[in-house]
Amino acid sequence: MAGLQACCPGGHVLALELADFAVRVVVLAGSRRVLVFDTGSRPQDLAPLQPLQPLLAGREVLVVYSHGDWDHVQGTAALARVQARAEIRAEIQAVIAHDACVPRFLDDAPRRLDQLRRESPGLYDDVILIPPDLTFSHAMTLDLGGLTVTLHHLPGHTADSLVAFVPEHGLFLAGDTAEIPLPCVDWEDASLEHWIAGLQRWRDDARVVRVLPSHGPAGGRESLDPTIRYLQALREGRPPLLPEAMPAFYQETHQANLERAARMRSRA
Ligand SMILES: [Zn+2]
Repeated sequence: MAGLQACCPGGHVLALELADFAVRVVVLAGSRRVLVFDTGSRPQDLAPLQPLQPLLAGREVLVVYSHGDWDHVQGTAALARVQARAEIRAEIQAVIAHDACVPRFLDDAPRRLDQLRRESPGLYDDVILIPPDLTFSHAMTLDLGGLTVTLHHLPGHTADSLVAFVPEHGLFLAGDTAEIPLPCVDWEDASLEHWIAGLQRWRDDARVVRVLPSHGPAGGRESLDPTIRYLQALREGRPPLLPEAMPAFYQETHQANLERAARMRSRA
């Protein structure tokens, strides 16, 4: 469902409908800081955050990238003074990501943006890539003022993928590490073993009440199971159990995953 919705005290979810799929942006406001988890595909995507202006204007803004893919990082300029006609007034204190996200801004992130601009002239003209300026390798804790967010590296979808947890509300932001009907294995050197173990730890964590992935349906802890089962099947070379009918996007992703997993198994 597109639009801005409250998800917990101080928390809002913005659901964006892009051409092929939907993606979420999550805003978490504490008494001193506001955290914006991912920024969509272009600055205009964040225009629906306008009603949150009173929250953003009075607090330090932290942007977190779940990873460096285009649909998660290209809207940041809407919150930064680098954009001349910024619709939202905000002062970004830091752009936070995993260490492995930084080199992507010198490599595949600008290449992907060039490709998007060629494919869809005009749509991405006002995108300014803003690289992370505060990174971590394993985990990081952020105090927003009465609200805590812990960030954890969970590589697999990409090398730089992270997840976030808000203990006060049992809210787990899975980024692209979990997705229904299936996740995308977008990293040639991924360890499915580590990915599965990383997700299983959160699946077993009784503090987690609500799972909000960047794409696909939200749910409780059990909503991590389809991703875990899918990755286990990929790892073992078994056909995963999938819905009869899937959108073309997921059929193509599944084919690419099968081919990548076969290459991984042949190297193992
Ligand atoms: Zn994504």
